[in-house]
Amino acid sequence: AISVRNVWKEFGDQIVLEDVSIEIAPRAFVALVGPSGCGKTTFLRMLLSQEQPSRGTILVDDRPIAKEPDADRGIVFQRYSVFPHLTALGNVLLGAEFAGAKATGRLFGRARAAAIEEARALLTEVGLAGQEEKYPAALSGGMQQRLALAQALMRKPRILLLDEPFGALDPGIRAEIHGLMRYVWNSCDITVVMVTHDLSEAFGLGTRVVAFERPRGRPEERARYGARITRDFALWPPR
Ligand code: ATP
Repeated sequence: AISVRNVWKEFGDQIVLEDVSIEIAPRAFVALVGPSGCGKTTFLRMLLSQEQPSRGTILVDDRPIAKEPDADRGIVFQRYSVFPHLTALGNVLLGAEFAGAKATGRLFGRARAAAIEEARALLTEVGLAGQEEKYPAALSGGMQQRLALAQALMRKPRILLLDEPFGALDPGIRAEIHGLMRYVWNSCDITVVMVTHDLSEAFGLGTRVVAFERPRGRPEERARYGARITRDFALWPPR
């Protein structure tokens, strides 16, 4: 479980998040929505330890969250987060190297052969069989996003963080990737936290939809307050 307790985040004198608390059950699929600039990405970055809270605590399974990003947490960004100079297979293998060798080491010998097999299987699972040797530039946007997903899954994360992962895609391709996402979430033991602007995506994929919002009021008043959780819809039990 992820426990966010009374977390504040300030940048200089700007309060971005104000006293945010939320408990996220294992295997939940939480969709985070809210107006632009209300701190959704900042919140995700704190769950990834790319930012630290100004105040408050974040626990994962009752322990303070690791200060460095680790293999337990995978992320897929809005813009393709794959490396252009690596093939599809190379990109997925990078996920294995991160998980197995703490980002610095490389895989050799049998470990590498096993990782290649696993990476190929994952690529097949996300519908990229036959594309292993292609570079990202030769793949469509939807394919690049699936590749990013395979790369993140290769790390076997227990928490998958998605920042507008499908925002840049055509509606038809989005629908297809939604199906894939649902399949991934159903078949892996994984907790998903997804930021999206798209309410139908939020309600379509999420087991829970959480809205961040700054207080309404005059702009000069609003600047003095950060965003809080203003709505929290539990749609389904988290499997
Ligand atoms: P969007 O939906 O447009 O992506 P968001 O809800 O994800 O927005 P954030 O990207 O988290 O919002 O940004 C929230 C606020 O925090 C913005 O005003 C942004 O300028 C500010 N901010 C984010 N990161 C930093 C940083 N590293 N330094 C200073 N200010 C920052």
